[in-house]
Amino acid sequence: MTIKVLGYGVQQAKTKLAPLHFERRELRHDDVEIDILYCGVCHSDLHHVEDDWGSNHYPLVPGHEIIGKVTRIGTHVTSFKVDDLVGVGCMVDSCQHCHPCQHGLEQYCEEGLTLTYNSIDRHDHMLTFGGYSEKIIVSDKFVLKIPKGMPLQSAAPLLCAGITTWSPLVHWNVGKKSRVAVVGLGGLGHMAIKLAKGLGAEVTLFTRSPGKEQDALRLGAKHVVLSTHEDQMNAVKGKFDLIIDTVPNIHDINPYISTLSLDGTLVLVGYLGKLDPFLNTTPLIMGRKSVAGSVIGGIKETQEMLNFCAEHNITSDIELIDIQYINEAYQRMKKSDVKYRFVIDMQSLKKDA
Ligand code: NAP
Ligand code: ZN
Repeated sequence: MTIKVLGYGVQQAKTKLAPLHFERRELRHDDVEIDILYCGVCHSDLHHVEDDWGSNHYPLVPGHEIIGKVTRIGTHVTSFKVDDLVGVGCMVDSCQHCHPCQHGLEQYCEEGLTLTYNSIDRHDHMLTFGGYSEKIIVSDKFVLKIPKGMPLQSAAPLLCAGITTWSPLVHWNVGKKSRVAVVGLGGLGHMAIKLAKGLGAEVTLFTRSPGKEQDALRLGAKHVVLSTHEDQMNAVKGKFDLIIDTVPNIHDINPYISTLSLDGTLVLVGYLGKLDPFLNTTPLIMGRKSVAGSVIGGIKETQEMLNFCAEHNITSDIELIDIQYINEAYQRMKKSDVKYRFVIDMQSLKKDA
């Protein structure tokens, strides 16, 4: 048994998103059915639509910053009820028994995580489809509770941009005395600034874009460094304990390594692939520095992040759009022309019904 759903997606690489009908599974015992209210637009959605990683299954319906309302629950579901406000992020399943899964690190599942879209479900082998759609059906273990009172539309980006930057901040023990830098002021970058500031750190933004300084300070950064200015880069040599690099494209990370302190770590969360130019190991060896990577975050820590954000009044700065605007939004995201996350009002999908 399947359910017919309307969404926006693509049928092949490098084409424009358009309305399409697809099928989702009927509820399993542990499933929650969610009517989608809002869905954030992540740069990963754009990477998928452009087939940057060559990993696509079609049709492809993006969207993994999902907020909605529970409409039905499976017979074994006890932690959610109809009308609950809930969230779904980048993953919807994992093996649940490997070492990472047992330790709340489902994103590093040894058998491979099931992504919210463009993955094959491990039970029925159906393709998964994302949040640019009317509804989604997800195992209760991968559904998050939205804390009471949170503004729903600006909470949506916490489900990916929030957790992806929160997880390395917590893993590398960022706190009151930490000096944190963020590379790139986009969806992930602006959340990284807010969350690091919320944890008590002194935050610096590296940006290529003159004109983002005032926003960065308003979002919680204490300093802004134009990465294209050599003298500004030299002025922060040896300064940072942790750098979170959110740049989506290939870029030279060597200048940032020089700005790490002894034992400092640069965590890549954006660009996937080989570095060019190569990484110079000399400053790493001479300063016991590290270059690391990190992908999203586990379900338990995602809930902790949501609760932290509710306590500290942290949400995303968004531009609310109709789904019919999505192709233009992608063009603007490519030009870094978004302050600082597009969120789709899914009610707009009704115009295509
Ligand atoms: P975004 O909103 O487009 O922001 C990226 C920012 O990076 C831009 O605003 C820009 O900031 C900077 N930038 C863009 N192109 C650049 C270039 N060629 N050189 C230097 N800086 C550049 O993107 P996002 O949604 O934050 O996503 C960022 C990346 O993280 C994407 O690759 C996405 O796929 C990835 N991602 C990873 C995970 C994970 O789990 N690891 C999760 C979600 C997303 P300035 O104008 O300030 O320079
Ligand atoms: Zn994302």
